[in-house]
Amino acid sequence: MHDFYSDTQSRPTRAMREAALDIPLGDERHDADPSTLELCARVADMLGMEAAVFLPSGTMCNEIAIAVHTSPGDEVICTRESHIIFAESGGPAALSGVMMHPVDGKRGMLTREQLSDAIRPRSAHAPRSRLLVAEQTANLAGGAIWPLDQLNTVASAAKAAGLATHLDGARLLNAQVATGIPARDFARGFDSAWIAFTKGLGCPVGAVLAGSRGFVEEAWLLKRRWGGAMRQTGVLTAMCLYALDHHVERLAEDHLLAQSIAARLADLPIIASVMPVETNIVIADLDPQAPDARETSRLLREKNVTVTVVGNRRIRMVTHLDVGPMDADALISALGAISRGS
Ligand SMILES: *Cc1c(COP(=O)(O)O)cnc(C)c1O
Repeated sequence: MHDFYSDTQSRPTRAMREAALDIPLGDERHDADPSTLELCARVADMLGMEAAVFLPSGTMCNEIAIAVHTSPGDEVICTRESHIIFAESGGPAALSGVMMHPVDGKRGMLTREQLSDAIRPRSAHAPRSRLLVAEQTANLAGGAIWPLDQLNTVASAAKAAGLATHLDGARLLNAQVATGIPARDFARGFDSAWIAFTKGLGCPVGAVLAGSRGFVEEAWLLKRRWGGAMRQTGVLTAMCLYALDHHVERLAEDHLLAQSIAARLADLPIIASVMPVETNIVIADLDPQAPDARETSRLLREKNVTVTVVGNRRIRMVTHLDVGPMDADALISALGAISRGS
């Protein structure tokens, strides 16, 4: 398979698995697992936060952060194409009882004006605007990177209006590598932020959520309550530590491959347009004459290529550790064949 479905599809490498073999282990829920403690300290430092907690998934990071920052009936401001809206099974409503206030951003980002328009004046009738959530990079906007200024400006405007701020950093390290700006600078205006280990970093399990000591204490309570506390997590977190040492800088290779795919897609008759590529995500719209996205994805699968359907005529391709130039050739030639109706 030439798997462009997501950067979650990479498999742990042999060296990564070996990193988890001969390490001391302890019980994470008693703060006694050495690799997990080391990983949390390291990520807290990378994000400029006081503390951090290891969680099974990025979804749990977002859902715990929303629950800690809000009360039922509060409103969460984010862009319409945010992961917390389209891909977390209604978690914010089910787990925190909050209302979502989606804003039509541009390339997955808000301006300061859009934020102030979205914040409701205090009133006995309106829900309380309580939390801003931003995604760096913006997944469904094609992995677009919030410019540092804009992210800081929007976050500090939210705080000035009394909102809490949370950064969904599933691909924050892609933004760091693409821009050379340290992750902590992007996280500066945020009360909480997390990074994923199962996306570009290539680990099988895990994400780390960071914030103030008080925030992380509250997050731990929900982690236990929701069944996210584990035991010898060192077998997972040793792999995460390995990924921090070996798989961050190489994200640049994923970005180059994504750019070359985008350039070649633009030449295919089946493709109407390609979003600008800044990191490892390529989103393309199919020509009105071409089969729709679902059918194109099915035809690609017959040719051993997988992509994601993200709209009626929109497909997404993500580069990662387990796809290279030969897989890109296979993707382009499969799309070329579908263009020719063969
Ligand atoms: C993948 C992703 C998540 C969720 O992470 P999981 O580990 O899959 O639960 C959250 N936000 C964004 C932007 C993502 O791409």
